[in-house]
Amino acid sequence: MAYKITVIPGDGIGQEITDSAVEVLKAADKKFNLGLEFDYHDAGGTAYDKFGTPLPQETIDACKAADGVLFGAVGGDKWDKVDPAKRPEKAILGLRKALGLYANLRPVKVADALVEYSPLKPELVKGVDLVIVRELIGGIYFGEKCESEQHNGAERAWDLENYSVPEVERIANLAFETAKLRRGKVTSVDKSNVLATSRLWRRTVAKVAENYPEVECNNLYVDNCAMQIAVNPTQFDVIVTGNLFGDILSDEAAVVGGSIGMLPSASIGECTSLYEPIHGSAPDIAGQGIANPIGTILSAAMLLRYSLHEEAAADAIEAAVDKALGEGYRTPDLWKEGFTKVNTSEITKIISERV
Ligand code: ATP
Ligand code: MG
Repeated sequence: MAYKITVIPGDGIGQEITDSAVEVLKAADKKFNLGLEFDYHDAGGTAYDKFGTPLPQETIDACKAADGVLFGAVGGDKWDKVDPAKRPEKAILGLRKALGLYANLRPVKVADALVEYSPLKPELVKGVDLVIVRELIGGIYFGEKCESEQHNGAERAWDLENYSVPEVERIANLAFETAKLRRGKVTSVDKSNVLATSRLWRRTVAKVAENYPEVECNNLYVDNCAMQIAVNPTQFDVIVTGNLFGDILSDEAAVVGGSIGMLPSASIGECTSLYEPIHGSAPDIAGQGIANPIGTILSAAMLLRYSLHEEAAADAIEAAVDKALGEGYRTPDLWKEGFTKVNTSEITKIISERV
């Protein structure tokens, strides 16, 4: 059986980093006989330049028909003057909607070789291996809003937050399933001491937890969780939270990881899931062949694990990345005295060989 992977390089370093991840996937394909087929499509500024829209319908159709989507990055100052409705960033928002991507998974795993890049003390960071499961298409970001109105003689604005039980059940189920594949611990994060939506969230998560007796579950208020990520990040396995809290906590957790070029993400969908690095299109280094492709390579490993259920191949890619780092190879963003400086294509070849 063949797997179809839709690749969307996008803009800036998107082309370089997706080329790199595809090369590593091909190495895994060769070793594990996966039967991967790659199919390339446009999105972002590149698509706007060609077709006048950042997200052509044929790209959406190709994603829906695929087993997984590997996405590079979109955006860049080149398109700053474009009509806001047609900005490159609209491509990823449009894909989230079209594919029903209701959850975003952001693992933060600090490789032993990279402990020193974290702003936290090495003894706090060593062994960090957590994943934030963020609800992506509900909550306050998508509630009713008012930009401006008069109220009691003053101008005011408001945003409404709402969550339904099915929305919370869906994300909670995903979090518990994810924990089963990991260390079996879920931390649900809310602000149930003040918010009604958080109280519904907490009740619903507790109900879902009853179906997973093998998974340990605890609750934290978001303010405490933000502090715990900074002072004791190794306590976490899976953190599940709503859209707003997840947005903030996942950026905080990424900082613990130390390097923006290293971190992958998965957006889990109703039909096809999408995998992309957490960083942007880095226009300042695009075309120079020096981008760190590891965030995209680890995103490709997540695609193998979560969409294709090819665990062994995913493990092999992650181990190859650790090995390359352990042997001292570093792209310029991570290079320090005493290490071997390599460019994008060199690190790609080194990782592929170790798969
Ligand atoms: P976006 O709005 O799309 O998130 P951004 O401008 O906030 O984009 P990035 O594009 O992620 O941020 O870039 C931030 C900085 O990190 C830039 O200096 C960029 O060169 C650097 N950077 C990002 N990704 C990488 C990478 N893979 N390798 C090396 N440097 C990177
Ligand atoms: Mg950014």
